[in-house]
Amino acid sequence: MNKSRFKFVNIFFLFTLIFCFAFNLSSLKVNYEVNRISTNEKVVMITFDDGPSPTDENIMDILKEYNYKATFFGTGINYAKYFEDGGKTKKIVDRMIDEGHSLGNHSYYHNNYLLNTKEAYEEFHKTSDMIVKIYKINGIEKQISDIPVRMPYLQYHRGMGYLQKQLEIDYFVRGYLGCDYDESICGKDKILKQYKSHLKKGQILVAHTRDYATEWLPDLLDFFKKEGYKTANFEEGEFNYKNYGGLVF
Ligand SMILES: [Zn+2]
Repeated sequence: MNKSRFKFVNIFFLFTLIFCFAFNLSSLKVNYEVNRISTNEKVVMITFDDGPSPTDENIMDILKEYNYKATFFGTGINYAKYFEDGGKTKKIVDRMIDEGHSLGNHSYYHNNYLLNTKEAYEEFHKTSDMIVKIYKINGIEKQISDIPVRMPYLQYHRGMGYLQKQLEIDYFVRGYLGCDYDESICGKDKILKQYKSHLKKGQILVAHTRDYATEWLPDLLDFFKKEGYKTANFEEGEFNYKNYGGLVF
């Protein structure tokens, strides 16, 4: 091999290496989910999954005492009751909006969507569409792309990129998951210990709409207050997370 040909082959290999490296990095960039607000301020996002249900009234009573705002990631099957159960669910969800909490999308049926991206898209779209209608009834204009989305079971799969694109959302909302979803294995002390030890600037905390929340939530919010923490969610105005920073992995 002559010298110039050797040089060409070398450069070719170098470019191939750079290309492979860059491609690999981009395919590794699969952080469709956000876990926190990028901020140096003492602010936390409190979120409750699986409602809306009458239990949320108790949760809102507690939040109200502290003037803390949450995000409720409800399922479509529960939001549908807004239009169907003679005003019971409507009263709860309208109160969420009225008191400045955010409504999020936690799929329609709370299934496992690992193998069915198309079904996932239809369910998420239907649920966000319903949430947009509920906001509209309450005099607030939002787009489907404004509605925060959280996967059931915080599941993660390759179809999330497609879903993100189709739903025109910038991210899925994840966060720190404690074990408040099963009080038979995780009592008040353990739940409090988990959430308190994971409290940090910008943290997103994942909790659930469960009756047991009334046992530990007041203590946790006392702790937040004592530590000087504020809350943020997705509503426009004083409590919007964008007042602090962007959402990051
Ligand atoms: Zn859930």
